[in-house]
Parts: sequence; C-alpha cells; structure tokens
Amino acid sequence: MDRRVFGIETEYGLSFSPAGHGRLTPEEVAKYLFRYVIEFGRSSNIFLTNGSRLYLDVGSHPEYATAECDDVAQLIAHDRAGEVIMQDLAERAELALAADGYEGSVYLFKNNSDSAGNSYGCHENFMIPRRVEFARLAEILIPFLVTRQLFTGAGQVREVDGEARYVFSQRAAHMWEGVSSATTRSRPIINTRDEPHADAQHYRRLHVIVGDSSMSETTQLAKIGSTDLLLRMIEAGMPMRDFSIANPTAAIRDVSHDLTGRAPITLADGRRMTALELQQVFWEKASAFVEREGAHHQHLPRVLDLWKRSLEAIESQDHSGIDTEVDWAIKHRLITGYAERANLTLDHPRIAQLDLTYHDIAPGRGLFDLLKRRGRAATVVDDAEVEKARTIAPQTTRAKLRGDFVRAAREANRDFSVDWVHMKLNDDSGRTVSCKDPFATQDDQVEQMLATIASS
Ligand code: ATP
Ligand code: MG
Ligand code: MG
Repeated sequence: MDRRVFGIETEYGLSFSPAGHGRLTPEEVAKYLFRYVIEFGRSSNIFLTNGSRLYLDVGSHPEYATAECDDVAQLIAHDRAGEVIMQDLAERAELALAADGYEGSVYLFKNNSDSAGNSYGCHENFMIPRRVEFARLAEILIPFLVTRQLFTGAGQVREVDGEARYVFSQRAAHMWEGVSSATTRSRPIINTRDEPHADAQHYRRLHVIVGDSSMSETTQLAKIGSTDLLLRMIEAGMPMRDFSIANPTAAIRDVSHDLTGRAPITLADGRRMTALELQQVFWEKASAFVEREGAHHQHLPRVLDLWKRSLEAIESQDHSGIDTEVDWAIKHRLITGYAERANLTLDHPRIAQLDLTYHDIAPGRGLFDLLKRRGRAATVVDDAEVEKARTIAPQTTRAKLRGDFVRAAREANRDFSVDWVHMKLNDDSGRTVSCKDPFATQDDQVEQMLATIASS
C-alpha cells in the first residue's frame, strides 16, 4: 500500500463561565452548543461539506472527526478546521445563552481531561492492509505507543505520589483505570473493534486511542508521521526485536511521570530498558528504513528530525531545542517560567488554570494561540489551508465524493443520509450508494446522484 488513509477524532472539553448568576452543567451547555447544528442539519450527528463528521454523543464532549486524508499536512489542516468549526459553535452558543438570560463565556478545550478527573479522547485512525498479522503488529506497536509520549505528549501538571509534578502525557493517566490485567494485551492501547469503513476483505482500520490531543501542529506531524512510518515498517516485514512490555498499562504511567526518560521499563522477557532507549532504537530503525526505501512523503525528514531532537532534548534535559514544537515542552516552558516569576509551586490553582488555558481554542484567548502569535509555536499549515479545509473536503480521497454530495444535497434542500461509506437521497426511492474504496475520488453512481439533484 503506497498511500494510506487516516483520520483524527477529537473530543473537546466544554465549560461555561457565567458573567453573573446562572450556573449550567456541561450537558446543558452542550445542548446550546449543538442547537445550531440541529437547526441546520436536523440532527446532532452530521457530516459537513468538508467530509468531516461533527457529533455529540451522550455526555458533554462534542467531537469532530476529520474526513479521510492521505497526507499528514492535509490531516493537520482538517483537524485545525475542526477547531475553527467548534469555536464558531461556541460563539453562537454564547449568543443563544445570553438571549435566554445566561450571560457568560463558553470555553472549548482541546485536551484530554477535566478538573473532575474525566478523560476524553483523541483517536487516530490508520487504514492498514488486512494481510498484516495483527498479533505481530500489536507486539511492535505497543512498546512504541507506550513511549511515543516523549515527543507527542501534551504535558500536564498532575498529582503523582502526593506531589504536583509535570508529566509528559494527559491520557496516560486515565486510559487504563478499570482495565483488567486479564484483557488481551493489545486491547487497551489499540482498539481492536473491527469496523474498517472500507472493504473488510482487504483492509482494517487501526484505532489508536492512547494519544493526547495536539495543540501544536508540529507535534501532530511527529505523532501521526512517526506512527505511520512505524506501520509502514511493520507492513514491509522489517525485522524487529521483541520489545513486548511486561505491563504496558503500568509502564505508560511510569514513562509519563518521568521527564528524564530514564525510568526502567520491564520487558516481558525480564530485560529492562528505559523509554529513551526504546525510542532511540525505534528512531534508528526508522531512519535506516527511510534511508533504504526512500521517503514515502515530503514531510518525513521533518518528522524524523523533530523525533530525534526530542530524544536529544530529554537526554540532555535542555528543552530549548524543542520548546516551540512539542506540546509538552512548549507548555512546560510556559508553566515553569510563570511559576518562577510569580514564585508559585506547581500545586497552585493559578498553575492549573494556566495548564488548562493552554488548550482553550478561542483565538486571542487561548494561551497556545497567543504563543503562536508571538512566534513561540511552530506551524505546519497556514491559515489559508485551514480556512479551505473548513468547507472543502480532501480532494485525494473518498471524502471528495462525500463533500460534493453533502454540498449539492444541502444547496438543493434535499433530505439525505451519509456515513463514512454510504450516501443516500432519502426521497430517491431509497437507493443507497456505497463507496467502499477510501481512495476513490470518482464514482459513477455518485455522479448520477449529483445529476439527479442538479435536475430536480
Ligand atoms: P465512534 O467514535 O462513534 O465510536 P468511530 O471510531 O467509527 O466511531 P468516527 O468518529 O466516526 O469513529 O470517526 C472515524 C474516523 O475514521 C474519521 O476520522 C475518518 O476520517 C476515519 N476513517 C474513515 N474511513 C477510514 C478508513 N477506511 N481507514 C482509516 N480511517 C478511516
Ligand atoms: Mg468518534
Ligand atoms: Mg473512535
């Protein structure tokens, strides 16, 4: 498989801060947030003209799932477009709330845990060939995913052994609670639910649920780019030593809690390695693979470079080489700088506030955005690409067909249904068009439906 289809699902934290009286639960705010979506799409689960899915499950964490992308920068633009779409909903919700007597601000956070200790996810989806043996894939991938947080974590101040500490990852702390040690080793980190959204004979959809959401585009690039590369190595049958971890759920926390990268991880065969050592091996293997096979996309040199510099920064404990590019390091600099100037310890509520505000997606208010405006956060895509991704689907995957269909049906005010694979005009004698090939950008049946809409 030369190209790969991937998508990111991002769940957002939501809260309302009243200007005066009138507290609201997140569930109530979520209803306001989705009021416009329901008015406009007649449902709280809709597909947009850019091919994405916007929905609200039970609870109060709105989700944006990007359309199928086949390029990392394209994926970043589409994930960022999700932020813009969500923020627009927040602003509409504020107006609707104010009209009902609830003056105040709606906040959306692109992070993975709230102050009540709830966790919500960022799911990475990678299409993989079915012929790849899943057990081998999990064996190689899990040690990688457990230690990938060294250059992909979003960072967080949390209580560890009764003390406030800065850790690599938000999600690491939450993922595993309640997971019995009896469950298959592969299950917690990689969701094995088999819904390929494609021809199941040929493909699987790998669903990685262990990662932190990324504010930083360069972090996102390294996260998706390195994981895609590792999958490629596995698919190519590259020989790899067995680094199976004895207890991955404990290891992922230990790794998160240790900013030196040197906490020992016990492997299944009894050997001990550190997260840094494991990642150094993965990096060496990956760069040798690229040297031999050539770069399969233009962003790969940047992925390998940031990955390597992150490991060097951890090894030397000098983060200055990555503190505009890796979320945990960007935020670490922000938080430690502030704590020093204000003479605060990490357990101070103002630190928790700062930590949270980093993830506020409102332009001009969220701290990540402010850092970016000051040139303190590197980017991968420009505003024009994000703006385009807000309304236009990726033109290189099946999302193009969905986008064209959704746009035409909406403009003609036709009643329709869509999911990742299917499209249907509900009044067209119930005919459902199925697009099982995620790489297809042309389809006669879709053309026909578009013609039907145009002539009606
Ligand atoms: P849910 O989150 O509701 O439990 P789900 O995991 O199926 O269900 P969605 O939120 O619907 O997830 O998002 C699916 C994601 O998978 C999207 O980002 C989409 O672009 C991506 N995707 C769609 N088809 C494929 C495919 N064939 N391979 C890999 N990813 C895909
Ligand atoms: Mg989802
Ligand atoms: Mg999912």
